[in-house]
Amino acid sequence: MVIPYAFVKVMQGEEPYLDKLDRLPKKQAKFLMTEGNMGGKYLGACLDSCRWGSHTTVMYEMSTKGLMGFIQNWMQQNPENFTGLWHEKQIEELYTKFELPFIHNETCPKDKNHSGVVRDLGGRLRCAHKSEEKLKPSFVRYWDSFDKLSGMTQRHYFEDEPSDPLPDDAWNEETGELLPEYKEDAERYQRELKEFEQEESSLLVTDVCYSILSDRGRILPLETIIKRLNLRPETETVYCDRFGPCERVGELSEIVGWCQGHIQEHDKVEFPFDGWDLAFYVQRWYQQSPDRKSPIFEK
Ligand SMILES: [Zn+2]
Ligand SMILES: [Zn+2]
Repeated sequence: MVIPYAFVKVMQGEEPYLDKLDRLPKKQAKFLMTEGNMGGKYLGACLDSCRWGSHTTVMYEMSTKGLMGFIQNWMQQNPENFTGLWHEKQIEELYTKFELPFIHNETCPKDKNHSGVVRDLGGRLRCAHKSEEKLKPSFVRYWDSFDKLSGMTQRHYFEDEPSDPLPDDAWNEETGELLPEYKEDAERYQRELKEFEQEESSLLVTDVCYSILSDRGRILPLETIIKRLNLRPETETVYCDRFGPCERVGELSEIVGWCQGHIQEHDKVEFPFDGWDLAFYVQRWYQQSPDRKSPIFEK
């Protein structure tokens, strides 16, 4: 285990933080982002002075975007010399290996028996496993869903077999005969079922896995790096009032009287390392493509 740099500094009797008087992390972040207050200061020192810390993690009272804004603000406050102000040490002095959080899987994360790879235009190595299925063309339906492992919206096809529309009480209890009001439904169902059974499965549907095996070697945006390092979920569900009416009118159906919750970006980020190490990640991000060419935002 690597001892956090901030801790090493305390052990050596050094003052670990920038002077923050009695400012709590949120206030300290605001103070630092005020023009001039981060001028000439190490990014590591700035990041380490506006975080909460527990034994194993540190937390910022900022969203992912807020943290990105903080880092950009530090760069703007040090326009000429920020490339020399990441950290008071060189990465190599503290680590033999310090890598950005690339995805790297030896086998497909969806199914280790998948085979075949393809490199996409963005430089990612993806699983090219193909599954094929023949379906009845008139009954093919699909649904789209976002797939985390491939980072893509994928379309899934399935066969919509006609289902019995008759309720349990569609028959006369004594005679067992179908009630007249259900006759039409029953006939239509029989007709559809027959069509379904007679139709040939002639439509070939191909599904390619596309799970990301590796994106090592690709230039990662700062946003991606922070999202992958962040221990907290990206979004959270907030309630206006658990047992009361929704106050955010128009965001959900009027039929429901109480608040069903709203999904929003998590307003805190948390990392398993201190602000100094976070500065090393930012340095590695920048160095992927110097001269301000490393992208900040995901597309
Ligand atoms: Zn796969
Ligand atoms: Zn609500």
